[in-house]
Amino acid sequence: MLYFSHPASLEHDPRAHMPGHPDTPERLVAIERVLADRDWLGWERREAPAAAERELELIHSAGHVEAIRELCLSGGGPIDADTFVGEASYRAALHAAGGACAMTRSLLGGDQRVGFSALRPSGHHAERDRGMGFCLFDNIAVAAELAIRELGVERVFIFDWDVHHGNGTAEAFRRRSDVLFVSIHQAGIFPGTGPSGDFGSGEGEGYTINLPVPGGSDEELWLSLVEHIVLPVASSFTPGLILVSAGFDAHRADPLATCTLEAGSFAQMGCHLRDFAAELGIPLGVVLEGGYEPVALAESVAATLAALGGEGEAISAAPEPLLTSRAAVGVSRHWRL
Ligand SMILES: [Zn+2]
Repeated sequence: MLYFSHPASLEHDPRAHMPGHPDTPERLVAIERVLADRDWLGWERREAPAAAERELELIHSAGHVEAIRELCLSGGGPIDADTFVGEASYRAALHAAGGACAMTRSLLGGDQRVGFSALRPSGHHAERDRGMGFCLFDNIAVAAELAIRELGVERVFIFDWDVHHGNGTAEAFRRRSDVLFVSIHQAGIFPGTGPSGDFGSGEGEGYTINLPVPGGSDEELWLSLVEHIVLPVASSFTPGLILVSAGFDAHRADPLATCTLEAGSFAQMGCHLRDFAAELGIPLGVVLEGGYEPVALAESVAATLAALGGEGEAISAAPEPLLTSRAAVGVSRHWRL
């Protein structure tokens, strides 16, 4: 079990431009305090290297990479109404993408079977040509593309359990059949994308699966979707690598959304994914996205890491009748459930 981090993550602080901004370095400080108290739960810590710009350009345009670099190095400023960079943000972003890439390289090199990349800024909202939603570069998309183009993986399954739709990752792969992107997210909140009827396009038709859930959705629904839709589809897809966009903002204490998961809910998702990866005999890499209540975030990450490391058992969830069947109707046009 490999845990990637870097002190550069702590230097990126949007509060310099917007006091009260929820994406703070304290998020990571809280996580590492809890993990240190628990002896890192047996995880081996590694320093995340900086990504090379050519790696970012696997997903982003050279113009976007340059624009972010220049904005940061000239002192920083706003990218949109809630995305801000400072001088140190570029270096932080390089290490955030670099952590996801290094984790993927280590896992595919047979070094270890499970990884966690705990860096900021997060990535899943960043698009080819623009940063948005606190994200500058799409760390998980860069890692997935690296796995396919340079590390010999034929198919990557990306599961995005952040409470917000991962529009950047979805867009990067929506026309592709070698990346299965499945997202559970709260409907009606930022960024407003990811309706259940969008299955991707062209050759990628069927390889994008959106499972929006209403505000207030609980563990029973989330775990039911994971067990009865997400994993059966992923199993049919036969991936060579699993990557997870792990936001912890579906926690009941999170200020940015209204789902009601708890630390134990994330641990359950971790147990299901751990067992699934072991069954397929493939590596599992988890990349930190959101989660804005530091105590809830830290407890949820620790519970997830414990589960990924082998603690606890996956509990079977009842198929939630109404929502599961509604989502399942669309999905079953493309996949056998
Ligand atoms: Zn989020």
